[in-house]
Amino acid sequence: MRSPHTIGLVLLGLVLLPIGAYVAYEVRSLSDNEALMASIYERQLEAILFSINQHAWTVTDGWAHEIDGVLAAAPGASPEAFGRFLDTHAALRALVLTDSQITRLHVVQRPGETGLPALRDPLTPAAVQRLLERRRAGYRKVEPVRLPRADGPDEQILLLFAPETPSAGIHAVGLVLDARRFVRDVLAPKLQEVAREQFVLGIFEPGTAAPLYSTEPLARSELRRERSIWLFPAYVLGVRPRGATIEEVVQERFRQNLLLVVLMGLVLLAGVGIVYRSIRHELTLAQMKSDFVSNVSHELRTPLSLIRMYAETLELDRVRSDEKRRAYYRIISREAERLTRLVNNILTFSRIEAGRETYARAPLHLNEVVQDVLTLYDVPLRTQGFRTEVRLADDLPALEGDREALMEAVINLIDNAVKYSDAEPFLGVATSRHGREVVLDVADRGAGIPAEALDRIFDKFYRVSTGLVHTTKGTGLGLALVHHIVQAHGGRIEVESRLGQGTRFRLRFPVPATAGAVLPS
Ligand code: ADP
Repeated sequence: MRSPHTIGLVLLGLVLLPIGAYVAYEVRSLSDNEALMASIYERQLEAILFSINQHAWTVTDGWAHEIDGVLAAAPGASPEAFGRFLDTHAALRALVLTDSQITRLHVVQRPGETGLPALRDPLTPAAVQRLLERRRAGYRKVEPVRLPRADGPDEQILLLFAPETPSAGIHAVGLVLDARRFVRDVLAPKLQEVAREQFVLGIFEPGTAAPLYSTEPLARSELRRERSIWLFPAYVLGVRPRGATIEEVVQERFRQNLLLVVLMGLVLLAGVGIVYRSIRHELTLAQMKSDFVSNVSHELRTPLSLIRMYAETLELDRVRSDEKRRAYYRIISREAERLTRLVNNILTFSRIEAGRETYARAPLHLNEVVQDVLTLYDVPLRTQGFRTEVRLADDLPALEGDREALMEAVINLIDNAVKYSDAEPFLGVATSRHGREVVLDVADRGAGIPAEALDRIFDKFYRVSTGLVHTTKGTGLGLALVHHIVQAHGGRIEVESRLGQGTRFRLRFPVPATAGAVLPS
């Protein structure tokens, strides 16, 4: 049979290896997953900023379309028609209409609008030619031109495009945009729509830390990602996640998952621990059982061979003196007693194990039980040179108990005291009353029990495997029976022992509530 140690190591290896591999794999794939998640998130932020820029283009493209419509409805449209167009688009400061050579430049201005930037400089015939070529090629290009800011604080952009139907000398149209108004009227609603509950979006003017507009309070330093606005490259469009930052979310998730994986590992380890313990317990029990069988065989064989030997000697009538004959009879009877006790113990034990042991309780006096047992042991104690000290209290209340069972308990204790004493053969038996308890002490000055074995001696089959006890035969059942009997009587058993100095067992029985009469001792 393999030792529990080897089995434990094999088990640990079998479980630790896969656990270790699993935890390592989980940790790796967790961090991979988290990195993937973070990169997806980053791309999402990028896409958000892109969609807002895209929106700005789409809106201005729409305006170019509208102007196409105005021109198509009335070629060489009147300033009033453009004035109405301007009225409906607050982000526009003015409209510029020009021919291909920029010889005639017509500016339609929003009423009340002052301080327009110089428009002629950025408009070059070459620029208009480029737009017209594109238009001929079948698509419209809107070309932004940054205007000088000399006349005002706001960013000015001129969006140039060639109309669909160049008419009445209008070959290019320019839209003068006011950045602040554009942000407020066009971009702000889009930012709100995109931000929802998940993001904070903001637009920052060049060189400012506070936003020109943001969906929630936002500082430039908090931005997770920022991009220039295509239309107004000096303006910054930025976003940050709402609440925790993505790193915090990812780290928190990573921590939680790691904790779960580690917890799982610990649970598995605890499982291994439990399995190992129960295997070790089963193995020790199996070992103790096999020791028990060999011990019982020995215990049976010794008295039987003694009985046989003395009986045969007597039968052959070889013993001359009466005294010797009486001594032989005593030995035969003592060994028969020993056999009876052994068989009784085994039978009681098997009844207890099968749950069939019952106790017939009746009022009894503990002193009487003790005296009966001492009478049984009188001769053996004397022949083995034991000094016996008996102190029985005379004020003991009656107990409710099973006489036979209690005798068996006391016999086992005295038997052990005799078995495990060599240097100083001494037996002390005392009864006393402690409050609502009747107490029985059985003490010896024998081998004693090692401290580490004290809480195991009441286990079935357990025997101390060192010293004198090792050489003394026994079944390991005696104290298990005593323990069971005492517990069945509602009592407790205590043991005090010093190695090489002796042992004292103390049985405590509760006095029944109705007990009054003091029986004679
Ligand atoms: P056993 O048949 O071995 O005596 P027990 O159940 O009666 O079995 O006792 C269990 C073990 O406790 C013994 O093997 C012995 O090691 C120890 N033991 C019990 N009583 C004494 C004692 N009075 N002195 C020393 N050791 C004792």
